Order: sequence, then C-alpha cells, then structure tokens
Amino acid sequence: MKNVIILGSTGSVGTSALEVVRNLRHQYKVVGLSANSRWDLLAEQINEFEPKSVSLVEGKWLDDLQKKVPEKSVRIRTGKESVCELIAQEDADIVISAIVGAAGLPAAIEVIKTGKTLALANKEALVMAGNIIMPMAKERGAQILPVDSEHSAIFQAMMAGNRNEVKRVVITASGGPFCNHPKEKLSQVTLEEALKHPTWQMGQKITIDSATLMNKALEIIEAKWLFNLDTTQIDVIIHPESIIHSLVEFCDGSVIAQMGLPSMKVPIQFALTYPHRENGNVQNLDLAKLANLTFLQPDMDKFPALKLGYEAAKEGGTNGVTLNAANEVAVQAFLERKIKFTDIAKLVDKVIQKHNFVQDPDMKDIMLADDYARKETKKCLL
Ligand code: NAD
Ligand code: MG
Repeated sequence: MKNVIILGSTGSVGTSALEVVRNLRHQYKVVGLSANSRWDLLAEQINEFEPKSVSLVEGKWLDDLQKKVPEKSVRIRTGKESVCELIAQEDADIVISAIVGAAGLPAAIEVIKTGKTLALANKEALVMAGNIIMPMAKERGAQILPVDSEHSAIFQAMMAGNRNEVKRVVITASGGPFCNHPKEKLSQVTLEEALKHPTWQMGQKITIDSATLMNKALEIIEAKWLFNLDTTQIDVIIHPESIIHSLVEFCDGSVIAQMGLPSMKVPIQFALTYPHRENGNVQNLDLAKLANLTFLQPDMDKFPALKLGYEAAKEGGTNGVTLNAANEVAVQAFLERKIKFTDIAKLVDKVIQKHNFVQDPDMKDIMLADDYARKETKKCLL
C-alpha cells in the first residue's frame, strides 16, 4: 500500500487524480488532500477517501467544512502555510501537486525537502524556480515525475534509450481554439470562445494559456528543467487531435511517440505506478476510426507567447519567473474582461523587457522578480 497526498484535489487534475486512486484503491491510500476554497467538494472527498489530514487554504470556510464531515477524525489545517505543514507532517510516499500557478512553488520545494516523490502537474513551479528545484531534488534524492501529459510522454519515450542518446524532443500542442482563426481577428475573440478548448477539459487558467499558446511556452521551460535539455533540443509542433502527446528523437534517427486518447488519467496514473503499469480505466485508441492525424508548424507571429517562451528558456535567469507572474496577472485580467486576448502576450513581453534580470537567481531573487512582475503588470492594467 502506498500513501498519497493530493494537492489541489478540487481542481481538474486533482479530481482526475482521485479517479485514478479510486480505480487503484487496493494499492493507494489517500492520506492528505488540499484545496484553496472549494470546501463543499473537499468535504465530499474527505467523506469518500477518509484522509488523515487536509488543508483548506481559505480558513473562512472551516466551520462549513467541519459541519459536513462531523463523523470524521480528519485533521483540518487552514491558512497559506497549511499546505506545507500537511506535506511535512504526513507520512506519504508520493505527493501529486495539482495546485495552479505560483502558489504551488512552496509546496513543490517542501515535498523535495522531505524526500518524498513529487508527481508534478504544477508546471509553474518549475518555470519559476527550475534552477533551484532540480539540483535540490538531486541532492535530497527526491524523484520528480511529470504529470503534464507532454512531459509524461517524453518521460515514457525516453525509456526507449539512454539519456545521452536523445537528440531532441518534440512537444505537441493542440493549437487551442484559435488554431484556424485569422491573426487579425484574434484581438476580438471573447472570453467564452477562449474558454472552449477543442480537446482538453481543464481549469480556467490553463485553458486560457492553451488558447494563447503560453501553456506551450511554460512547457518548453518545464521540459528544459525536467530533462536537462538545451533549448535548441526542444521543438513544438501543432497537432490538433491531441493523440500524440509528444515525441523523442534519438541519435540514430528513431523517433518514439507516446499516444492515446486525450485523458489526464493516463499521465497521472503513470506517475503513481512508475516504474510499473497498472490496468487503466480509459478508452482504447482506435486509429482507424480517427483516420487522420495532422501536424502544422506553429505560427509565432500569430501566437507571440510561444516566442516569449523560447526566449525565456534560452535566456534563463529570472525570465521564467517574470513570464509566469506577468502571465498569471494578465490571464486573471482577461478572465475579468479587463483586457483583450492579444493584450496577454503584449503585457508579458513588456514586463519581461522592463524587469531587473538576474542570471542565476536564488530563492530571494525569484520571489522579488515574481512580486515585481505582478505589480508591474497590474500597473499596466490601470
Ligand atoms: P484548477 O484551477 O482546476 O485547480 C487548481 C487547484 O489548485 C484547485 O484544487 C484549487 O483549490 C487549488 N488552488 C488554487 N489556488 C491555490 C492556492 N493559492 N493555494 C493552494 N491551492 C490552490 O487547475 P488545473 O487545470 O487542475 O491545473 C492544475 C495544475 O496542473 C496547473 O499548474 C496546470 O498548468 C497543470 N496542468 C493541468 C492540466 C489539466 O488538464 N487541467 C494538464 C496539465 C497540467
Ligand atoms: Mg500539457
């Protein structure tokens, strides 16, 4: 039996992770859960999975939560620090981090500090502080397993050869809802259109990131850190059907792809069961039924966020944390209908240009850059 903590259990990845655990109940026990504010869903999860302890960041919902779980002997922590306390104090083999955004960074670091295995969906943590997280994991002997579908695909494909035989990776992107939309009309798209992702059901932030291709920008940086790649070894290709989740090209010319119908349950389960595989509760892939798989070169003029991602990956330093923070604020403003869709990448670019670049940032530099980028982006919104 393995003990699992799921952070961000009320979100899109978090609920899929619980579905996976439900299917593998004989092998995995949920010992901890964390949520930001959705106390009602957290209550249902406590009643079903009976974790030893949970964290509810927004403490104002504590009474409501307690009333819904009167019979349960669950320890409930609240407040910002409660996520890290949960990680430090619960005995777990693996922590799935499905928190969205920069809020996931302290949690990722805490998991590594305690030497637990980190199954990471929260790519923003690596984008912000990959230069700290990766060496720390190595030093503490903590394993980081990718949950992001593209990175899980690369991780799985890399198992076909030796690490030094890898020539390059190709990250696939669905292209989002505006793949075929004319560039000059992008500034007019509505929030509702941007939230309609063609192939994946996800949280709001990553859905907007997928529409701007900022998600791919974040994934380039994520891949660089996770697999210790040079930016020149990372390519992106648009693949609207989202069947091939990414590919690895080896030095002999062999290209290994990982495929499957789009479902986050596959990469989540692989991170849980690695290095083994278990029966999955997913639909089979029927290639004849699909008939066609298509591929297109990404258009960086139309989707400037992608270019920003390549640049930030190449320049390194504080560019990743700045790109992420500016993007989080800009996406929130777009969700609140305060800016146009095309303003998101423009704002991010502007703030990256303006910020005080630090080449090899420590944690303090990273937090300062994050804070600066948020304030500067908000200033630009006024
Ligand atoms: P979501 O918005 O559906 O869920 C986010 C979760 O994080 C919720 O449980 C919420 O309670 C929690 N949370 C939010 N703010 C928090 C805070 N300040 N402190 C603690 N917890 C907080 O998001 P999602 O779509 O599930 O994405 C989660 C992460 O996984 C993101 O980093 C995303 O990029 C990544 N990811 C998601 C998918 C997907 O299919 N949804 C795929 C690949 C990677
Ligand atoms: Mg992804």
